[in-house]
Amino acid sequence: FGTPSPEWRRYQGAPTGTDIECKGWRQEAALRMLNNNLDPDVAEDPENLVVYGGTGRAARSWDAYDAILGELRELDDDETLLVQSGKPVGRFTTHERAPRVLIANSNLVGKWDNWEHFHELEAEGKIMYGQMTAGSWAYIGTQGILQGTYETLAEAGRQQFPDNDGLRGTITVTGGLGGMGGAQPLAVTMNHGVCIAAEVNEHRIDRRIETRYCMERTDDLDEAIEKAREAAEKGEPYSIAVHANAADVLEGMLERDFVPNFLTDQTSAHDELEGYYPSGYTVEEADRLREDDPDRYVEESLDTMQRHVQAMLDLQERGAVTFEYGNNIRGQVQEHREMTNAFDFPGFVPAYIRPLFCRGKGPFRWVALSGDPADIHRTDEAVRELFPEKEHLGRWIDLAHEQVEFQGLPSRVCWLGYSTDEEGITERAKFALRINELVRDGEISAPVVVTRDHLDAGSVASPHRETEAMKDGTDAVADWPILNALLNCAAGADIVSVHDGGGVGIGNSLHTNNHVVLDGSDLAAEKARRVFTTDPGMGVIRHADAGYEEALDEAEQSNVAVPMRDH
Ligand code: NAD
Repeated sequence: FGTPSPEWRRYQGAPTGTDIECKGWRQEAALRMLNNNLDPDVAEDPENLVVYGGTGRAARSWDAYDAILGELRELDDDETLLVQSGKPVGRFTTHERAPRVLIANSNLVGKWDNWEHFHELEAEGKIMYGQMTAGSWAYIGTQGILQGTYETLAEAGRQQFPDNDGLRGTITVTGGLGGMGGAQPLAVTMNHGVCIAAEVNEHRIDRRIETRYCMERTDDLDEAIEKAREAAEKGEPYSIAVHANAADVLEGMLERDFVPNFLTDQTSAHDELEGYYPSGYTVEEADRLREDDPDRYVEESLDTMQRHVQAMLDLQERGAVTFEYGNNIRGQVQEHREMTNAFDFPGFVPAYIRPLFCRGKGPFRWVALSGDPADIHRTDEAVRELFPEKEHLGRWIDLAHEQVEFQGLPSRVCWLGYSTDEEGITERAKFALRINELVRDGEISAPVVVTRDHLDAGSVASPHRETEAMKDGTDAVADWPILNALLNCAAGADIVSVHDGGGVGIGNSLHTNNHVVLDGSDLAAEKARRVFTTDPGMGVIRHADAGYEEALDEAEQSNVAVPMRDH
């Protein structure tokens, strides 16, 4: 990847303020979002261009990073830059309403679409793993996933203990405190519960403690269990990280006959070579083994994964409500260890999230390009003003305001959907139009970028995650994300991207993302109204097509055209 660019060292995060170095705010937004992804406070390993999720990168090499910056500074208001797996490859005159940047990362043709071929090409510098928001410059740190994790756990609590106050009095056990997984302890305590999280890398643990995502750490499983039990009995929110391999921790729980209420995992199991750690090694020892003998690393990593899934199944058998949290750990052991019962516990989407997707609801996020937290605080007020009837959303905004530390550019996430008002404006568009007005009127000091995760209602095909167990068996149909990206280009999003392999690994998913820059202009309002209708609208039509009643109902209520709905 080369040595870190002097430009990156100079920036140390996104530029802020109202002076811009590009020819317009749309290009400037791309430059700031790229640098925000690589902010040392945001990215997990920025010197190697790794943002999060195993090896999810923001640019293919440091030379490519420099070249992208150069292109963005030169890019005119009627030009479009093409980025192929983290490298700028072309620039064309298009028009002002077209996207400024189009990105495709990690995509391979079906028969070749696997880690083996990907790693060969990666070693030759010809491709890059973009994960989801890493290669599309939309990562905002652990805060980006926090609400999704909070909502998922809240729903798990509601389903399991409907009379309970969230997760109060319950213990959730998980693994992995990386870029995304690090959100888990805070999401549990925000729901009033207790969390034990296994993590092999102590630097990751320290980072979560410094940023108040996790309360305490220990090397001793007995101590973790005792403290967790005590807090749960008192009904107090509490979180503790155990510095150990997750497979060993779960087996230790089985030996001690300790059964948590909820059990999941967010180690980077989607990548057996560069994401998941085998048992019996420190991180440093395992990193050396990977360099010296990658084949042995993979075998040992998969052996540990098999023990890990077996322990999850055993704990489920003993009563733990168990679900996969989107890292493909079940798929990995099914494929490589022929564990035919790996899918005996469900994924989190069919278990808790799909009803939201049917209504176009998904994690919608926005970023203050000024760098001024006051701008996000003004948007918090706007959410409360616009949606006073949504009590749950109001509670989330209050919690986020009190407990979430900004990482890099100040930003916020909330789940909004399609659901139109009397003027036919969707929830997402209503919010974006209001922010654009606040920028126009100077109540927000610089433009705001609205973007989202690739995990969204109509933007992803991922049979082990977002499209697991679709009602009509279309889990692997990838036409939907492609239509989503094409439609969002047609609607005038400012950045549009299409990636392979995010979340669950190469060959297992196809997904898209978009950004719209709200600079207060009429053009921004026009784009926002269109994109924040088409984008959640894809979620409604995709699920209506699969026959989900909630989606057909949303289409009916919000007037979404579903041409062959009765066939
Ligand atoms: P990351 O690579 O930043 O962090 C993974 C962490 O797991 C690391 O800190 C690593 O040290 C730890 N780890 C690896 N193997 C371990 C083991 N055996 N025992 C204990 N700790 C171990 O990744 P991330 O961004 O946190 O994502 C984690 C996983 O979740 C990935 O597979 C990712 O694709 C998936 N993911 C899920 C969602 C979701 O919405 N559910 C969203 C994004 C990512």
